[in-house]
Amino acid sequence: MSDHRGAPADQAGPLGPGTPEADGVRRFWTRLGLPGLVDVHTHFMPDRVLRKVWAYFDALGPLTGGIEWPITYRAEEEQRAALLRDFGVRAFTAMLYPHKPGMARWLNDWAVDFARRTPGCLHTATLFPEPDVRAYVGEAVEAGARVFKAHVQVGAYDPADDLLDGAWGLLAEAGVPVVIHCGSGPAPGKHTGPGPVARVLARHPRLRLIVAHMGMPEYEDFLDLAERYEQVRLDTTMTFTDFADRLAPFPHRALPRLADLADRVLLGTDFPNIPYPYLHQLQALERLDLGDAWLRAVCHDNGARLFGV
Ligand SMILES: [Zn+2]
Repeated sequence: MSDHRGAPADQAGPLGPGTPEADGVRRFWTRLGLPGLVDVHTHFMPDRVLRKVWAYFDALGPLTGGIEWPITYRAEEEQRAALLRDFGVRAFTAMLYPHKPGMARWLNDWAVDFARRTPGCLHTATLFPEPDVRAYVGEAVEAGARVFKAHVQVGAYDPADDLLDGAWGLLAEAGVPVVIHCGSGPAPGKHTGPGPVARVLARHPRLRLIVAHMGMPEYEDFLDLAERYEQVRLDTTMTFTDFADRLAPFPHRALPRLADLADRVLLGTDFPNIPYPYLHQLQALERLDLGDAWLRAVCHDNGARLFGV
C-alpha cells in the first residue's frame, strides 16, 4: 500500500464507489443477511486537523510507534463519507479529539454541523479535562450528541482526573456511550492502560465506555473490565488485522471470552486512517471463526441496538 503515500488529496487511489472493494464489503454483510454495517470508530474532523493527523502518520510520530503507516483513504471529506455509504455502512461516527485545553468546544461545534450535513453520521462530541468540560458536555448532549470520543494517549490526561468527574457522571446518567482510546497501543502514554479507566468505572459503574482497539495491547485487562461492568464494550478497531497482529497480537487463549461477550463487541475500523483496505478488517473478524451469529452481532446488531438505528 505504500504507493498511496503522498498521493494528491483528491485521489483515493484505485478504491472508490462501485469498485471491487465496495462490492467485496457488500458481499460480506449480504452473506450474513444484514442490512449493512454499523461502524463506531471512524474519523472525521475539521480538514486542517485531519491533514495534521495525516502528516503525523506520514512522519511516523509517536502515536504510530514509529511504524510505517500509509493512509489508504486519503480523499476529500465528501468522497470519504460517500465511500462509507457505498460500503453499506448505515451508521458511523466522527471520532475527533483535542490534544490541548480550549479545543474541544470548537471541535464539538464543527461536529454538530458535520453530522447535520452527513447522512449516516452519528453526531459525535469530545472532551478534555478543563474547568468548563461539564458545561460543554451537557450542551453537546442537549444538542443531540449520540457518542463521545476520548483519547487518553493524544490528550495525555488521566481519565480519572477530578476535572472530568462531573462529565463522566452526566454521560453515565444520559446513557451516552464514550469511545475511549485508553490502551497502550500502538504507543503508551503517561495515563494509558487499564488502571486509570478502572478508577473511572469504580466511580461511574454505569458509564457506557467503549474501549477502542479492544484495549490493545492490554486486551485481557480490558476484557476483565468488560466482564465486571455490564455497560463496558469493546471496539474491534484495527485488532485482528495483519497489521495489528505484527504489532500486538490478540491472545488466542482469550478468544472464548470474546465469544462470551458477543453482545458487547462493536465493529470499529479507524477509517480513513488505516494502512490497509476496509475489507481487511471485516475479513480479520471473519477468520476468528467465532461464527456468523457473532459476526452479525458485532458488525451490525450491537451498534444498531446501542444507537437505535
Ligand atoms: Zn481511531
